[in-house]
Amino acid sequence: MTIALFGGTFDPVHFGHVEIATQLAEHLKIENLRLMPCGVPVHREQPIANANQRLEMLGMAITDRPQLAIERREVEQSEPSYSIDSLRRIRADIGPEQTLFMCLGMDALEQLQHWHQWRQLLDYCHIVAVARPGAQRPTKPPLKLWIEQHQSQQSAADESRPSGHLHFCSLNLLDISSTQIRQRLKQRRSIDTLTPDAVIDYIHRHHLYE
Ligand code: ATP
Repeated sequence: MTIALFGGTFDPVHFGHVEIATQLAEHLKIENLRLMPCGVPVHREQPIANANQRLEMLGMAITDRPQLAIERREVEQSEPSYSIDSLRRIRADIGPEQTLFMCLGMDALEQLQHWHQWRQLLDYCHIVAVARPGAQRPTKPPLKLWIEQHQSQQSAADESRPSGHLHFCSLNLLDISSTQIRQRLKQRRSIDTLTPDAVIDYIHRHHLYE
């Protein structure tokens, strides 16, 4: 069975995440895509909602998507969430043969060279980078060169090797971000249509992002 992970802060989850994850599951032709919220992010400011709140909102947002699941391993640890460590642990659990994808948005790929041990990520998984409004394919070394070396011409869904390649894909995405939701809430503006009603209720009940 192929495993695909989609990491993020999900502070809070929004329709952009749910859509991209759903379309990725379809694109990769897999039955189960795991959303992996990070516990203590390393490359960005700390989340406002705590890990448990982000998990609860995520659970609410995917109730009607049987193809999506939550991978809790990063939120359940107290140390910083380095993707390379999570990938090593997951690879140790699933063994060397199984195909593993790590999916991320293009904005995240642009920052990849700042990730801990980024050159070793492909030892454990394939990376699928999804085009995102406002984010470009990296054009500067060393990332550009690394991409040229590892980019596959094959479709990700046809990938038979367990790890080692970079795939780009262009999906039908929504231009929504968690930053936009947090800003709107701060300005007491509506976030209807940006995230599911259950998540909106939760945010208001817990006075998040005020
Ligand atoms: P923030 O605004 O707080 O940075 P975000 O909306 O970018 O949050 P994250 O939880 O940081 O969401 O993102 C998780 C992953 O989802 C990242 O790989 C990011 O690129 C991707 N992503 C988030 N929103 C979208 C979207 N609307 N379209 C495509 N990719 C997205």
